[in-house]
Amino acid sequence: MKNVAYVYHPDYLLHSATFEHPESPDRLVAINRNLENAGLFETLVPVTPDYPDNGDILRVHDPDYLRKLENACRRGDLTLDAEDTYLNKNSYLIALLSAGGAIAGADAVASGKVDRAFCAVRPPGHHAARNEGMGFCLLNNAAITVRALQESHGVSRVMIIDWDVHHGNGTQSIFWEDPSVFFFSIHENPAFLYPGTGRRWETGKGAGEGTTLNAPMPPGAGDDEYRLAFEQILAPAAERFRPEFLVLSAGFDAHRDDPLADLELTDEGFRFLSRFAVDLANRYCGGRIVSILEGGYERESLTRCTEIHIRELQQD
Ligand SMILES: [Zn+2]
Repeated sequence: MKNVAYVYHPDYLLHSATFEHPESPDRLVAINRNLENAGLFETLVPVTPDYPDNGDILRVHDPDYLRKLENACRRGDLTLDAEDTYLNKNSYLIALLSAGGAIAGADAVASGKVDRAFCAVRPPGHHAARNEGMGFCLLNNAAITVRALQESHGVSRVMIIDWDVHHGNGTQSIFWEDPSVFFFSIHENPAFLYPGTGRRWETGKGAGEGTTLNAPMPPGAGDDEYRLAFEQILAPAAERFRPEFLVLSAGFDAHRDDPLADLELTDEGFRFLSRFAVDLANRYCGGRIVSILEGGYERESLTRCTEIHIRELQQD
């Protein structure tokens, strides 16, 4: 069995909306309660993150954007640029701590302290671009983690697998021209779902042409369609790219019970995706995976699938 870190900080609950919102603190409360009841915590290595260095964040985001975000929180603004992206006075610090959690997971794996890590962080990150927060995301946790791996741990080639049901537009834009980071996103077709990007022909630019790969799924797609995409699209891409490290943007909102989209993945589908990622990591990355929570809004399926995902990360 593999050693898996569970990254969490109680302050993640301090980022909350003044109105009803699907991305709420009780997502993590529910995940933790379920893992506790399942007896899983005794088998995991707890990691409590600290605030990251400013330099870690500035590798991905512009200082002007960070100042804007900090000032908006200090002023008491209730939303950032987009109406759906709420703030409270804590949100800037908690967004930093969320990124810090993902970095802590990467540090634990890269240093050999653990084999893999699951980062139960929020706010999520994959919609956040260099200069813009959107889609419930303030800082791009996955992108910040990739840069930390490259700058602090000498990792050259990183593959990001983003299976959140929404396209990871922020992550895609950050690595658009970067051949050292392969970004694979599988999501509901953008003709039907936020944020409206992630078409097949979006493949990167310049030196990064060919290291962005999008697999949009039609509404109603489920386990079979995902299995085919992983086997026929992702697997050959990984074989060509040969990543040294796998970063997962693990959203669970493609589940059939999730209210935010129209895909039909089951619990077993998420087991397959997790198992597939572990197999890829074993083949190319010495088994190394940092998995970062993104979306997932229906509490029962979110908690079940998070448990399934972590159990698969624990498998050899
Ligand atoms: Zn999502």
